[in-house]
Amino acid sequence: MPKQQQALFDDAIRRLEQVADHTRVDDEVLSVLKHPKATLEVSIPVRRDDGSLSIYHGYRVRHDDTRGPTKGGIRFHPDVSIDEVKALAFWMTFKCAVVGIPYGGAKGGVCVNAKELSKLELERLSRGFMRQIADFVGPDTDIPAPDMYTNAMIMGWMMDEYSRIARRHTPDVITGKPIPLGGSLGRADATGRGAYNCIKQLERIKEWEPKQITVAVQGFGNAGQAVARLLHKDGYKVVAVSDSKGGVYSSEGFDVPSMIRVKSESREVKAMYCDGSVCEAVDARNITNEELLALDVDLLIPAAMENQITESNAADIKARHIVEVANGPVTSRADGILKDNGIMVIPDILANAGGVVVSYFEWTQNRQGFYWKLEDVHSRLEEIMAREFRNVHDISSERKIDMRTAAYVHALDRLGSAIEAQGTEQYFRAGG
Ligand code: GLU
Repeated sequence: MPKQQQALFDDAIRRLEQVADHTRVDDEVLSVLKHPKATLEVSIPVRRDDGSLSIYHGYRVRHDDTRGPTKGGIRFHPDVSIDEVKALAFWMTFKCAVVGIPYGGAKGGVCVNAKELSKLELERLSRGFMRQIADFVGPDTDIPAPDMYTNAMIMGWMMDEYSRIARRHTPDVITGKPIPLGGSLGRADATGRGAYNCIKQLERIKEWEPKQITVAVQGFGNAGQAVARLLHKDGYKVVAVSDSKGGVYSSEGFDVPSMIRVKSESREVKAMYCDGSVCEAVDARNITNEELLALDVDLLIPAAMENQITESNAADIKARHIVEVANGPVTSRADGILKDNGIMVIPDILANAGGVVVSYFEWTQNRQGFYWKLEDVHSRLEEIMAREFRNVHDISSERKIDMRTAAYVHALDRLGSAIEAQGTEQYFRAGG
């Protein structure tokens, strides 16, 4: 397990302690939220194509279910650890509370390099993982979804496996499914779109002229691509893009649709411009991920992994605004440095909540058996993101606290009132 990751859950708790002074929730609420409700560790034997057997290790953590069934993705990644999954589940609890959807938080993960598996091996692993967690999840208890290196097809396999175990059709056990298997229109780009909705609010407050705003995107996966595409369409200048292998920079800005196309065909981030079927290289400088993070841009969008901006590189950040599309890209110790340098951070629990919001729409559609038009998904997502962005921004300006603290305060208001509604020490001591 990488050393950095061991501290993730502790770091999440440290942040909770930091915001405690700004809320009026009962101390019991904070004590409850410091401990995940349930943790499951499983082993998944997978028959490989060459006949050999590999054993993979996976986890599912349900952090808090006071506000509703728990919700959160499943990631397939070699760095997955119980500590990481606990932190990610914790963030899901706060994320669902910030945007006011009736869920608690959960997360799952399998420690595997999915790129090294064949498609059939991936299917066997996905079904095997669902078999191991089937008693722990369910449409009314805990509803998984995609996350890093898992996709709609994997969700479809897992839904099918659960349905076979339950001996009934259960599309509502998992979200992010393929559309023909009960997925929702608009779920695929929902995380990026939700972040875009937040940036549009920022644009309004800051009175930005999109053409003058430069953007750097770290991570060119599902969410990074979607937010870059939507911003580019509005005239924003996307000057840098990277993936795990490195990135490219051009002060002129890139044609994002061409880069998405090249990435999906070659799996590489390349500075290209495509006209019809012909793609040609454009002038650009190769940069590392560290260089991308330190670029002098208006908007920095970390859309890759956690722990990217830490106390060791926070002082190098020159961007004026950071929109956290990844979960946990900035550590709690980096927060203070960014704040002292006047950098505004739109936190993950708000900025990347679009994915789980549309997952909620998918789950409600599955339960009703009535499916929505794409425009309805987009407009309802936009309504929630804009409303909650404004709520968090209002708390931030009224109490003179940063956006992250304000988002936690807002989430704690909702979580606290739900936990307190079941009675606190003060209530029970009063007798009567
Ligand atoms: N994995 C996504 C997240 O971190 C989506 C979770 C969901 O849709 O339940 O927010």
